[in-house]
Amino acid sequence: MATAYDNDPRTAVERLKQPLVLVIDDDPGARRAIGRAVEREGLEVCSAEDGEAGLSAFNVRIPQAILLDVQMPGLSGFQVCEEIRSRPGGAEVPIVMMTGHDDEASIRRAYDVGATDFLTKPIQPLILQHRLRYLLRASATMTALARGERQLGNALELARMGSWQLDIATGAFSISQQLLALLGHEGNNNFTVEQFGQLIVEEDRSILHEGVRDCITHRRTVGFDHRILRPGGIERVMQCQIRLTLDEDGEPEALEGIAQDVTERRRTEEQVQYLALHDELTGLGNRKLFEQRLFLAVHDARRGGTPLSVLVVDLDHFKRINDNLGHSAGDRLLRGAASRLTDCLRETPTVGDSLEHATTARLGGDAFIILLPEVGDPGALDSLARRISESLASPFHLNDHEVSVGTSIGIAVFPGDGSDVETLLRNADAALSHAKAEGRSNHQFYNETMNSVGLARLIIESKLRRALTNDEFELYYQPKLSLETGRIVGFEGLLRWFDSDLGMVMPADFISIAEETGLIVPIGEWVMREACRQSTCWRRAGSVDVPIAVNFSPEQFRHDDIAATVRRVLAEEGASASSLGVEITEGVVLHDAERAIRQLEELRALGIEIALDDFGTGYSSLSYLRTLPVDIVKIDQSFVREVGSRDHSSALTASIIQMAKALGLRVIAEGVEDTAQRDLLASWGCDQMQGYLFSPPVSAEAAEQLWQENTSD
Ligand code: C2E
Ligand code: MG
Ligand code: MG
Repeated sequence: MATAYDNDPRTAVERLKQPLVLVIDDDPGARRAIGRAVEREGLEVCSAEDGEAGLSAFNVRIPQAILLDVQMPGLSGFQVCEEIRSRPGGAEVPIVMMTGHDDEASIRRAYDVGATDFLTKPIQPLILQHRLRYLLRASATMTALARGERQLGNALELARMGSWQLDIATGAFSISQQLLALLGHEGNNNFTVEQFGQLIVEEDRSILHEGVRDCITHRRTVGFDHRILRPGGIERVMQCQIRLTLDEDGEPEALEGIAQDVTERRRTEEQVQYLALHDELTGLGNRKLFEQRLFLAVHDARRGGTPLSVLVVDLDHFKRINDNLGHSAGDRLLRGAASRLTDCLRETPTVGDSLEHATTARLGGDAFIILLPEVGDPGALDSLARRISESLASPFHLNDHEVSVGTSIGIAVFPGDGSDVETLLRNADAALSHAKAEGRSNHQFYNETMNSVGLARLIIESKLRRALTNDEFELYYQPKLSLETGRIVGFEGLLRWFDSDLGMVMPADFISIAEETGLIVPIGEWVMREACRQSTCWRRAGSVDVPIAVNFSPEQFRHDDIAATVRRVLAEEGASASSLGVEITEGVVLHDAERAIRQLEELRALGIEIALDDFGTGYSSLSYLRTLPVDIVKIDQSFVREVGSRDHSSALTASIIQMAKALGLRVIAEGVEDTAQRDLLASWGCDQMQGYLFSPPVSAEAAEQLWQENTSD
């Protein structure tokens, strides 16, 4: 079929650039005249000689305006207009119908079939031009408006938002399509305000009523959330804003509401809130939730004069399970422990009453915490703690293994053990540490003697008692070097304690406790035995052949026949006396000097070299050097540290060296950290040095390596 474009030499793209006016008229003269007028407006013309051709042209490209003759052979203008209006894109195109003069019936009919405007024939070109200009402008505005409305509609739909309006005087209610869709009543054009009210979940209706009242009384915009029930009983959460519009006299005219479906957002918020307060692994509360609950519980307890208790529950040796069976088994154990804990609470009658307020939380790692409002009876707590321990002690099945865990529990009760959140938690923790220190797998109630310093000592003391049998000690070795040759001439054995909770504990933190408790005697013997064992081992391997000196505490001289012990250990280990050295401090003579000196002499008689450690501190005086049977003086690091930087210390150190040499003693400087110190000490005749400059105390393996490197060059 031929279209009006068939004779057009321009490309489709070129054509598209200009606004198009479609002229449909069977009179060629009229088409030409109209065409010229249109072109004069800078518009493009497409002419069609009858309705059929016009519709085809419309199909090819939708014009910006259509000039349509009413009377044509074939399809009439009215039919064409009606047809165009029904076609896609045809509803908005301005259609101007050209009628005969004073043909009122045609004019009316034209409007009936959807014409935008009419012109009477014969067409006055000037009037046509003006009319066209106006039409196109109006049409552009209408298009923009329609687009805006469409976009707004889309945006509202995307935002899951809609609106309603209620005329206060007439009660007329209108509701947007978007809101209807949100309510599940799309397409219902007779939706009433009563129906709207019915959709609101019954308990929430008062919220809406309150809101409306508030809005009208105070003439302000109010916002609130309420739930609605969609058909099928699906509950959604709507967030609403209502405002009042006033008439010219300032009187309330209408209520306007915007509602947004925020169900998903609320759900996410709830989820975020849940995650923020719960432990992901076990589903129990986390520390934050616990503290919030405890805060409120303490508040209530204070007001009501009731007690409350806090139990901290720690799984013993959980790390071993994690290490040996893997993390996923560890996770399963934690989940299992969490559910057993909750069960225990439910099953304990004295506690069960307050269970709905009880909170169990995971503090992280293998520690749990329980809050029991209104429970303070030691008997009830005691049996609960037992029940928990028993429950967790029955085996968990993990990766074909049966694992049972011990539990240590610390208990603090409000108000006696703390009247605020922080103190209660701290004291429950102190009680837990105490339970652990007591060898784990037990529970302890807090008492004041568990204050921090005392507690730390207590913990170390009780742990220390088990350290020997648990094989938690290790001897480290710090080389001593000849200042003359730079070669390693011996090692000092220094004790290290590796505790599973405390990590590596340094002697400064436990030697004095070991001394006070007498534990230093067996520990000292272990050190000596270890040194002998190591030196024998090295000698046999042919790698190291130097003595290892160990530190003896004055307590060993008081409570032990040290010389006899040394003899026994040497014999048992098959070590020679020359492989062992002993370091003492002047403290040995503070109690029973005679006895100490006798023992030292016995040691020397065995062939063991004795060094006087930490010389220069305490009571140090040169007279000790004369009275004590020693071979070596170790100048304390507090002097060495200041060598070269303080004249006083330098002078003192130099004179100690000089005098010790005069007495026929060898001199070791300990704590040498830089070359300046080393060089000065060497220049003063000091024999040996020990310090970080060469090496800190290191493990046996590393010490052997140091030796090999030092002797190989
Ligand atoms: P000590 O016998 O005077 O040991 C020297 C201490 O100084 C060691 O501390 C050592 O690590 C540290 N040290 C070594 N070189 C340097 C240095 O260049 N700079 C500094 N700042 N420090 C250095 P550690 O191992 O902590 O031992 C501390 C003390 O504990 C020892 O002092 C000793 O009195 C005592 N001790 C260590 N092991 C035993 C033991 O088996 N039995 C007894 N009774 N006491 C021990
Ligand atoms: Mg020492
Ligand atoms: Mg020392």
